[in-house]
Amino acid sequence: MRTADRFEGLALLGEATVGPLSLSLPAVMESGPAEPPRPGLTLTSLPSPSGVRRLRIADGGAELVVDLPVLAPEIAGAGTGVHRASEGVFLVHAPVRNEALAELRSAAPKLIVLGNARALWTEGEPLVAAVRAIRTALGAGPVLWAPRVGLPHRIPFLTYLGVDLLDTTEGELAASRGEYLDLTLARVDASAAGMERACSCEGCRAGGPPADLAAHARTLYRRSAAETRVALREGRLRDLVEARLASEPTLSELLRYADRGLGPLLEERAPVTGARSHDYVLLESHRRPEMVRFRARLLERYRPPPSKSVLLIVPCSKTKPYRRSRSHRRFAQALDGLEGLARVHVVSLSSPIGVVPRELEDVPPARHYDIPVTGDWAESERRTVGDGIDHLLRLGQYKAVVAHLDPEEYAFVRDRLSVSLPVDWTVGDSATTARPALDALRTAISKALDTVPRMTSGPLAVVLEELREAASFQFGREAADRLFAAPVRLAGRPWFQRITDGRSDLATVREERGLFHLTVLGAHRLGDRLPRVEVDPAVRLEGDLFVPGVRSADPTIRAGDEVGLYREGRLAAIGEAALPGRLMGELGRGLAVNVRKRDHGETDTHLTEQGSRSTRGPVVEG
Ligand SMILES: [Zn+2]
Repeated sequence: MRTADRFEGLALLGEATVGPLSLSLPAVMESGPAEPPRPGLTLTSLPSPSGVRRLRIADGGAELVVDLPVLAPEIAGAGTGVHRASEGVFLVHAPVRNEALAELRSAAPKLIVLGNARALWTEGEPLVAAVRAIRTALGAGPVLWAPRVGLPHRIPFLTYLGVDLLDTTEGELAASRGEYLDLTLARVDASAAGMERACSCEGCRAGGPPADLAAHARTLYRRSAAETRVALREGRLRDLVEARLASEPTLSELLRYADRGLGPLLEERAPVTGARSHDYVLLESHRRPEMVRFRARLLERYRPPPSKSVLLIVPCSKTKPYRRSRSHRRFAQALDGLEGLARVHVVSLSSPIGVVPRELEDVPPARHYDIPVTGDWAESERRTVGDGIDHLLRLGQYKAVVAHLDPEEYAFVRDRLSVSLPVDWTVGDSATTARPALDALRTAISKALDTVPRMTSGPLAVVLEELREAASFQFGREAADRLFAAPVRLAGRPWFQRITDGRSDLATVREERGLFHLTVLGAHRLGDRLPRVEVDPAVRLEGDLFVPGVRSADPTIRAGDEVGLYREGRLAAIGEAALPGRLMGELGRGLAVNVRKRDHGETDTHLTEQGSRSTRGPVVEG
């Protein structure tokens, strides 16, 4: 039985049962002799019959003894790679053949011991491949132990990779060689650390100098494990992983392999919602799954609204959403009063997110990121921005482009704009918010708008187009087409929009969240494009849906997604996924879906705390 209070990367913070052991994971086992007995989670080597390593994992009163077959090199390199150790415990030597993994899956393993983890670590990419193979075949259920690879500074990364259990063996060995371990620099000179009283742990206080290096190492393991769990609780494990990268080149290599090789698995675990801002400090941060997904969805799901005839490209701002920033408000003021402004498509260029059309400024993580700004763009950042611009120009109905950008800093954009359209650069030597630049901006936009035909529909029709694109970004194009099929009307305020069919709400979107909530009526419109959770018919849907009540869940579901709860093929309720779809099937308990609205066979009229007031606010025919 596996639970997850928090998840990030492939890490799960929660409980797991392995035989008589109840483990709180992720965890580090303290290796050491059998006597005297030690508190906490410990790992002890016991006298073993030949051909076997007998290990005892103990936690308080409970203990699990596992007999790991000792593999001769010629055996370890051949065969299936899977060896049964004890009840529910399997020794795996990567690479493992797929058939062997399929067989292993049917044995319902509780604990997987990655026997050659230490060798895989030195090889690099094969470690990531092994984790991918194991988690793809076996899911999140089994506890994964990577023996003898954990050093204190590696714990955050190994946890992010989905390794649940580590041990202190390597650190104890390092200490016996006279090494003084350090969380940031991996190891430092022991006498220097002693001289500076760098650590106040028991081992350093009692012994030093020379310190009790083994006791110091054990302290660092505990500190790093605690740090890792804190970060996981806070949703900042990736931040911690990146903060530790400089301690050892292998970490950077492995994170690169992980982002590439585990990309889909990492994306699956990344929620589509965002509640707090994250810092994207290093180039490695740019590869975080939520950023990769935003950039991919822009290219795959988004098209510029057809009424947008003038593309206005502007730099991003530190303030999010950009439109609230001082600079963007000044751009807006400069254009104030021009006729046909609804035809202007404001698109911000940023890193690491790429291009952000105004109507997507609230979509996570567009509202939730901070970066160091230097004006120097890395090659990968230029490419991201360039690909976004290409996409807009290819699918947009633009007649003119205005680039309100520093011509030197954004010189790399110039090539991308060498299209048949007229392109006006409106910033000279001065800042983008200086008077001459703002005047030039007004002149350029005014001139561009003169060349495009007047709109036949009102500006709210354009808002509807924009919302439809935001819905496409969230649900996919086909789903958005269905949701916005006539009859559809718009009611509400800019910060809280309601999509209705003229009588009842279909969906609402609040700017702080940036994602649509569907009503049951709206969910019906999406039909088979709505991600499904099949509910056990025996479960009464009176509150939220918990994991045991899930019969099956769409693997495309991400935490934060709108999902339909189906009972015996019929849409019974809708809600917001608390877990990715696959985890709903792989965990033993916990919240699966926050249920928002049950289908009582009547229209939804009280969706929001204010209630639904279809007579208020601007309304437009779709
Ligand atoms: Zn110490």
